[in-house]
Amino acid sequence: MSFKSFNPPVRTLMGPGPSDVHPRVLAAMARPTIGHLDPAFVGMMDEVKTMLQYAFQTRNSLTMPVSAPGSAGMETCFVNLVEPGDKVVVCVNGVFGGRMKENVERLGGIPIVVDNAWGEPVDPNKLEDTLKINQDAKIVAFVHAETSTGVRSDAKTLVEIAHRHECLTIVDAVTSLGGIPLKVDEWGIDAIYSGSQKCLSCTPGLSPVSFNERAIEKIKRRKTRVSSWFLDLTLVMGYWGGSNKRTYHHTAPVNALYGLHEALVMLQEEGLENAWTRHEHNYRALRTGIEGLGLQFIVREDSRLPQLNAIAVPVQVDESQIRQLLLSDYNLEIGAGLGALAGRIFRIGLMGQTSNLKNVLLFVSALEEVIARLRLPVDRGAAEPPALRA
Ligand SMILES: *Cc1c(COP(=O)(O)O)cnc(C)c1O
Repeated sequence: MSFKSFNPPVRTLMGPGPSDVHPRVLAAMARPTIGHLDPAFVGMMDEVKTMLQYAFQTRNSLTMPVSAPGSAGMETCFVNLVEPGDKVVVCVNGVFGGRMKENVERLGGIPIVVDNAWGEPVDPNKLEDTLKINQDAKIVAFVHAETSTGVRSDAKTLVEIAHRHECLTIVDAVTSLGGIPLKVDEWGIDAIYSGSQKCLSCTPGLSPVSFNERAIEKIKRRKTRVSSWFLDLTLVMGYWGGSNKRTYHHTAPVNALYGLHEALVMLQEEGLENAWTRHEHNYRALRTGIEGLGLQFIVREDSRLPQLNAIAVPVQVDESQIRQLLLSDYNLEIGAGLGALAGRIFRIGLMGQTSNLKNVLLFVSALEEVIARLRLPVDRGAAEPPALRA
């Protein structure tokens, strides 16, 4: 047997992540590997930390990338903050809220679920009511941008309510960071995690997290040891922390961090607010094209995520056939529905580098052609011009 180098096809990534990675990020990752305790590397890590503070809009000194994907950022928050017996109010309006609940269960915490319909934001009144009857709750957890349904919840209001009831907050910002307004300090978020491969447009596998003083206090007051050795922040801090003497914890993924550094340099060059605006503009162009094709969003206009668009699959249409044709004939990847929405929606990602007008036009015209080839009832030619006008 003989194997050859793997050369992936060149795709346009318009699914729920990973998003397109800029050549500058890929080039950064191809630079020579150096030791992870090398002073040059440590200097770069400090810059990553500062640029993450900018992206999160926080001064939290405990801000760093966990060496694993977004799911590990989720676990980092829960495993450090939840102790056995802790009551945690988990707002669920999609797949990722469901995973938060499972994290609480596995840690011996008591999850109190605030259930919301998939496709709708978390209802602040429901959270308030739940906290009123659970005065002993210690933490409120919710997903800012629910990628499974394309819904944005009002993070600022949910955090306010949680704090009024003396709860700490854990926020999933995997899909929101860099794509829509997110202000960790202004909103008072206590613990937050994100991912490298969504609106930051880096490769998958890193998870930026940030904890404020209140969250660190809760960790310091723990009665039980953090059950995960790898994710125990008190240990990781010796490696990422402010002191100039770094100690070995694990071997950092050196080249992956070069990539994150470059992606954050690019975010800083563009400006965070400009990145938010770009995501909003390209969503509007997509909306015009989608509506021109006679298709519909499943989420109410005022709670849609510009970076993740859930579109209803017309009845009697086999959505997997459409996705396969887009991939095979246009090198275009879009996402399918998850869980209860499998087969019923497409998920169109316009995250990070993927969010540009060229991709919107490519997608809308490709979808129109595929629909025509499959002889689905669509007004051919109606799609592209409105998208261009937007
Ligand atoms: C993608 C995603 C995650 C998980 O991130 P991975 O990098 O895939 O582990 C968690 N939460 C949300 C909202 C996501 O979109």
